[in-house]
Amino acid sequence: MANVLILGGGFGGVVAAEILAAKLSHDHQVTLVSRDDRFLFYPALVRLAFGECDIADISFDLRKAMTERRVRFIKAEVARVNPGSRHATLTHGEVEGEMSYDYLIFALGRRLATEQVRGFYEHANHLLTPEAALKFGEAVASFHQGHAIIGNCTEAKLPIPVFETAFALSRRLQERGERGGCRITVINPNMASLEEFGGRELATKLYRTLEEHGIEYVADFPVSEVTAQEVKTFDGHALAYDLLMLLPPFAGVGPVIETGITDSKNFIRVDDSMHVKDAERMYAVGDSISLRGAKTAHMSVRQAEVAATNLQAEIEGRIPLAKYEHEIRSVIDEGGRDSIYLHKELWTDETADVSQGRVWHWAKRVREMQWLHSHA
Ligand SMILES: Cc1cc2nc3c(=O)[nH]c(=O)nc-3n(C[C@H](O)[C@H](O)[C@H](O)COP(=O)(O)OP(=O)(O)OC[C@H]3O[C@@H](n4cnc5c(N)ncnc54)[C@H](O)[C@@H]3O)c2cc1C
Repeated sequence: MANVLILGGGFGGVVAAEILAAKLSHDHQVTLVSRDDRFLFYPALVRLAFGECDIADISFDLRKAMTERRVRFIKAEVARVNPGSRHATLTHGEVEGEMSYDYLIFALGRRLATEQVRGFYEHANHLLTPEAALKFGEAVASFHQGHAIIGNCTEAKLPIPVFETAFALSRRLQERGERGGCRITVINPNMASLEEFGGRELATKLYRTLEEHGIEYVADFPVSEVTAQEVKTFDGHALAYDLLMLLPPFAGVGPVIETGITDSKNFIRVDDSMHVKDAERMYAVGDSISLRGAKTAHMSVRQAEVAATNLQAEIEGRIPLAKYEHEIRSVIDEGGRDSIYLHKELWTDETADVSQGRVWHWAKRVREMQWLHSHA
């Protein structure tokens, strides 16, 4: 009997657990550990911030979902993983202490490295957790005139919610009759980042859509410091703000620090079978891994499918043959007819597939409802 441990109850962990529980024979035990017993659909946090949904609408009971699928669920904090002796250390939860495993899938996501930008913690809003999204929502509600800055810090690997927030804010101010008294600026850390994310066509369509909403775009603004009134760059440029939403730098999570399996930012190094380099019987998926470019739910799910397929093969004594192809497939929801769909292969030079229309606004909502319905 194999004891399979999955760490993290987000997109990657849930999909891996479902596949393994369904495909492995009942002799094997699949256990999922996560700090929260609810699954949260993170891409909906922009709508949460703007009061368009409640937490209950965008989350489900993870313990129930896992138990019904024959996965043992443990609510606990993962403090440490030791790939050499094959055990994880759990704290503050239903099980505490060392938990050994035969096979591991690591899916604990990423850490928000707010300490890398001076003043971020004290002054900036973000919306990468439900609490932060609700707090930013309160700031939006009391913003009636002045300058709103929305953007990415260097190493924040998630452009989608930045643009969605800027469009949602523009629409909200329009509805309130306050758009005229408000300036909105989107900032990005470097000139290349938008084209690197989705290619030239996406960048062109986004620039045009920003312009139509009267949103300014500053492409080369690497934030180094946030004060109560300004965001500043390393070379001394400053922009004053009245409302600020910034995505902080991303970094790998704590439990694998100094285990020898991470890159310099603490993201886990994997090969294209999702197997962790320099570790045995360990796979890693999702935001926790070291791959170029943005980090998205779509990627986490596809990586989890590959990892689970290969892990099953390993357990059953077959050669793990599934390979991951790195691609982005996302919608930037403008809230209406200018929503943009992007599909881009990231390991080839093929041009991106980009399309714009109201259908993508609806497609994103439908996808969210389907996901929550089929995994709850
Ligand atoms: C506002 C927002 C908008 C987004 N928009 C999109 C989008 O439009 N399209 C898209 O594809 N992606 C989008 N994303 C990105 C997407 O949500 C992530 O890429 C995805 O959630 C990563 O999945 P994951 O399983 O790797 O990690 P996560 O979903 O972060 O899951 C990690 C899990 O591990 C748990 N955990 C972490 N550390 C510990 C610990 N030490 N102990 C125990 N448990 C722990 C967490 O509680 C969580 O349940 C968005 C994200 C946000 C925040």
